[in-house]
Amino acid sequence: MSTRTPITRAYCVQLGEVLSIAEARRAFFSLPEPRSRFRFLCSNERCDLAIKAEVTAVNYDKRPNDTYRIAHFRENPKYDHAPDCEWMIDEDAEEVDGKLPGETDGEAFLRKARRKLHDYIDVFDPTAEQEKGGGSPGETNGGSDVPGGSRGEGIGRGKKVSRSHKTSSLERLVECYRQARLELSEEEFKAMKLKIVGEGEIPLSWYFKSIAYAKVGGSSRVIHGGASLVRRYGAGNDQDLGFKLRFFDWVDKKPVFLYVSKEQMSEYRFRRYLDGILRQPDADYFRVFALGELSLAPKGTSINLEISDLKQLVLIPGHKRPAATDVDTGAVEVNGALKA
Ligand SMILES: [Zn+2]
Repeated sequence: MSTRTPITRAYCVQLGEVLSIAEARRAFFSLPEPRSRFRFLCSNERCDLAIKAEVTAVNYDKRPNDTYRIAHFRENPKYDHAPDCEWMIDEDAEEVDGKLPGETDGEAFLRKARRKLHDYIDVFDPTAEQEKGGGSPGETNGGSDVPGGSRGEGIGRGKKVSRSHKTSSLERLVECYRQARLELSEEEFKAMKLKIVGEGEIPLSWYFKSIAYAKVGGSSRVIHGGASLVRRYGAGNDQDLGFKLRFFDWVDKKPVFLYVSKEQMSEYRFRRYLDGILRQPDADYFRVFALGELSLAPKGTSINLEISDLKQLVLIPGHKRPAATDVDTGAVEVNGALKA
């Protein structure tokens, strides 16, 4: 395994922005067809301008999938990087007894665990993305979810390693969580922490709650579970159709639904991306991740998971049959398809 830090962002030539891989995928599928692949350069300005170091982006041009295809950036060995490129620092060269200068044993353990992930998140701001509006598809958002949104300042070799991995993108956080579940040991997974803006630091796993254990009312947790698509709603452009999902798990002996209206859908900037996920012809179910609230439906016979903004919803198509191994990551589903 590489001892270098995972490349978590890159400069997209076509969009003129530094993006995380989750943003790149959402932007890609928000473009009308036919789509052409993006070209990515290293986010470090010196690698980008002088060397034009290309970075390989894997699987961002495929829709997410519950069992494989974790999208990520990786080094393209055909290109050299600037000597101070933050992605090329070989951490082992700076380690003394397995630790970086000033690091505790716990911090070193966590750093090495995180290095196994394509992307990881330190800080999540659940409110920020919600507040941004406007913009057109292809324009990823008003402000990128990567730090500063601009090209890297180039954290030099020997300088204190303090890269902030902050995001307001639920999708990026979900990708980090899913990969951590798949690829880290139990001990490593439990050590993963997440700082939530307005709340403080908690173990990453605490921020995600299976719907089977959720209760009616607000929870300020990411509720997740498998669901099936009941139907689409409305008329007009395909991508504007609303939809209704039904969870496999029940809450308080009542079925749970997630209903998104045609209006909510047509206002959502990345509806083309979401619509494409719902239309996956081979999807047997959808894994739902949502920052929302469970409430009793007016008739009292069912429960609704309500979300105020579609940015607070991530849908991942899944397949009941075991999926093929991803040649790029070797990641396979280990938890069973429906109940993670
Ligand atoms: Zn570089």
